[in-house]
Amino acid sequence: MVEAGPVARIRDFRKDAGYTLSRYFWHGGMRTTMGNLMMPTMQARNLGGGSVWNSAICLRIPEFTLERWEREHGLYGFTNGGLDRHFQAVEDFMGVKPVDDDVQGPRNELFRLAAEELGWNAEPIARNEAGCRGSGECFTGCPHGAKLSMDRRGLPEVLARGNDIYTSVQCEELLMSGKKVRGMEGWVVDPRTGERSHRVRIEARCTILAAGTIHTPNILQKSGVREPGIGNNLRFHPGTMVMGLFKDDVLPWAGATQGYHVMDFIQDGIKLESLWATPSLMAFRFPGFGSHLQELLGDYTHMASWDAWISGEDSVGSVKASPLGRPGVRYQIHDKDVARVAEAMAKLSEMFFAAGAESVMLGMHDMPAVTSDRGIIDQLRSRKFTVDQFPLASNHAFGATPMGADPTRHGVDPYGAVYGVDHCYVTDTGLLPNTPSANPMMPAMGLSHYIAENVLARYT
Ligand SMILES: Cc1cc2nc3c(=O)[nH]c(=O)nc-3n(C[C@H](O)[C@H](O)[C@H](O)COP(=O)(O)OP(=O)(O)OC[C@H]3O[C@@H](n4cnc5c(N)ncnc54)[C@H](O)[C@@H]3O)c2cc1C
Ligand code: SF4
Repeated sequence: MVEAGPVARIRDFRKDAGYTLSRYFWHGGMRTTMGNLMMPTMQARNLGGGSVWNSAICLRIPEFTLERWEREHGLYGFTNGGLDRHFQAVEDFMGVKPVDDDVQGPRNELFRLAAEELGWNAEPIARNEAGCRGSGECFTGCPHGAKLSMDRRGLPEVLARGNDIYTSVQCEELLMSGKKVRGMEGWVVDPRTGERSHRVRIEARCTILAAGTIHTPNILQKSGVREPGIGNNLRFHPGTMVMGLFKDDVLPWAGATQGYHVMDFIQDGIKLESLWATPSLMAFRFPGFGSHLQELLGDYTHMASWDAWISGEDSVGSVKASPLGRPGVRYQIHDKDVARVAEAMAKLSEMFFAAGAESVMLGMHDMPAVTSDRGIIDQLRSRKFTVDQFPLASNHAFGATPMGADPTRHGVDPYGAVYGVDHCYVTDTGLLPNTPSANPMMPAMGLSHYIAENVLARYT
């Protein structure tokens, strides 16, 4: 196995977003989409990928989505529990369980109370962890070793079975012989400077690409694989956030990074979550400068932050290898998804007022920066907004090598094999042909477990 980035160990973690992004994320965490919005989209670059920095949320793909994938993408055999044993195997192995009550903390508890007040169902989130202390530091790396990210659960077992993992090795191209993939070629890359030193060539009977939905199509395109389903169906869950200001202390950093969510609106394409990240990341959404900004930051102890992501099911983008070899990412957000974002922000504002917040902070253009006027909820529901009015970002990227039965639309077949070549598979979020109606890590892991069985059956 090769990984372009370095190993990030507990002793390397610092509660500082700038430090984390610059060392362990592609393009220093500054990657954005081009299109009708420059939307930030971060991707990790280290052993274990995004699982080291994410909130460990692990959700299965719901039945209504699997039925849709069967109808629209020819993915048969997944409905009626067809994927259950794959999800179960991954969940058991990764230690997936709901957040314990005693590490929820006040920010998450307020979210639950708000949902109850409105008659919505707040569920404790299922995560891959053992011994979470509710320190809210998932984004800068779990200092307690509680999060069971791939570097702690999965890759140690790979090594224990006598396999090799090479970090700081970047795959550039596949080794091709006609349509047959024979392995990969790349470089040893210095994790700090990005400088290349030694050339690397690995020959293999079967090559599995798991470089994430941006880099996997990029590698295929640079290798001359130009099937129509490669790189043309990039999808995101555009995400937004609202902050609520309370009279009393909330101490928002206390408690699990993401403790509760509301799934009631998932079929409308909206998911609501409680969230925390370091102030150095969150504060970029604060309005104003100088003393005004300082004053708001002084209120941090009274704030809670809740986020929402939307399905993005009407928006689509692409990944195309640029002449320099870098992936160019385009994405066009459709008006229907803009309306979903506005509704999601209305729902979060409703929750804050229901929980007793004195005011909310939307971070939107052409809307009040901080407001205690509940009329804002109606405004969000009735006004027509343009996409650039919203503070959107998305770390849920998927779909650029979609799985499906049609080689003119899909990048990989229903068994995970790349169309147009032989002996090459994909096992990352690129597989998901449209929104999995769940945070994307577990959907990709469940499908990867299924694909792994196909690969084992063919090669062993
Ligand atoms: C801050 C944050 C919070 C998130 N929270 C959640 C959450 O709680 N739950 C959830 O489901 N999802 C969450 N996500 C999203 C989730 O982490 C990603 O969807 C998931 O990690 C994607 O997995 P992947 O295997 O497709 O790609 P990645 O995790 O990105 O792994 C791909 C790996 O391949 C490496 N690579 C890329 N190109 C090359 C190359 N050319 N040669 C060698 N190696 C290469 C990369 O460096 C990377 O390590 C979050 C993401 C972020 C950034
Ligand atoms: S909330 Fe804190 S202790 Fe729990 S998994 Fe995240 S970083 Fe680790």
